[in-house]
Amino acid sequence: MRIVITGGAGFIGSHLVDKLLSLDHQVIAIDNLITGKSENLNLHKNLTFIEQNVCDYIEIDGRVDWVLHFASPASPTDFTRLPIQILKVGSIGTINTLGLAKGKKAKYMLASTSEVYGDPLEHPQKETYVGNVNPNSERAVYDEAKRFSEAVTLAYHRFHHLDTRMIRIFNTFGPRMRPEDGRVISTFIYQSLMNKPITVNGDGTQTRSFQHVSDLVDGVLRLMDVEYHNPINLGNPNEYSILEIAKIIKKLTNSKSEIVFAPLPDADPKRRRPDITRAKEILKWEPKVSLEEGLLKMIEYYKSALQIKT
Ligand code: UDP
Repeated sequence: MRIVITGGAGFIGSHLVDKLLSLDHQVIAIDNLITGKSENLNLHKNLTFIEQNVCDYIEIDGRVDWVLHFASPASPTDFTRLPIQILKVGSIGTINTLGLAKGKKAKYMLASTSEVYGDPLEHPQKETYVGNVNPNSERAVYDEAKRFSEAVTLAYHRFHHLDTRMIRIFNTFGPRMRPEDGRVISTFIYQSLMNKPITVNGDGTQTRSFQHVSDLVDGVLRLMDVEYHNPINLGNPNEYSILEIAKIIKKLTNSKSEIVFAPLPDADPKRRRPDITRAKEILKWEPKVSLEEGLLKMIEYYKSALQIKT
């Protein structure tokens, strides 16, 4: 197939590109590199890279079978650094990519997020839960952009009969996350390897559930083969407090870092854990990589990226 992927040079996008190329597809990766990196993409005869903002009109010659819309800054530090870009890529970028799919009679997948649940009052979160989002919080730029992108994707499905799919991605980690990207796993591994203080926000009792990027990619591939138009949670249901995560990473890296406490960011969700019943039923999918196994792989990747010898 000939597949367009936006955010193709990003953390998740580039892993998807690799997988699709390994399956002999033709891939067109689009990225404006505001958070993605061209180094994440390896030269390949079946890969074309277009450096552009997907908020600008997207012109692709020839047939397209799939449009996968994975472009967006997604780290909470980006919410204050790149708020307008996030709102634009979730709204204008989603409309442009839907238009591309419609024009090419291609199938379409939206990468949505667990952030649509906001600071959830239901636990764990099922796809039917409608969320608890404060539209005026700093996080709202991402949460509301993704809520809009889901609404417009379903509108194209209902009104234009576009064959659309939507995934809600829960916390994901793995190689190619930028050490400075601000998210918790990348930050704690970087801090631990450099023996710098590990910065736990709040009292560290807030929880998250972390999936390895290879599990997520597997879920995406499965959904491409199943015609299902409602959102599907993709995440690992094993829930940890952030303080537990800090201790686990400190131990796995043999770090001398001390754990310090920092202020909790605006609207930081207290608990997050996916209910993956739907993914199990529809995709026959569940995560396979344990937290410790995934962390060990990522620690090795960071050691080599940061040229740390042990
Ligand atoms: N966090 C932390 N220290 C950091 C970065 C993040 O304690 O240096 C916390 C953050 O406040 C949140 C959790 O870790 O409670 C997960 O944060 P992340 O930025 O990875 O993503 P989120 O799930 O909040 O979107």
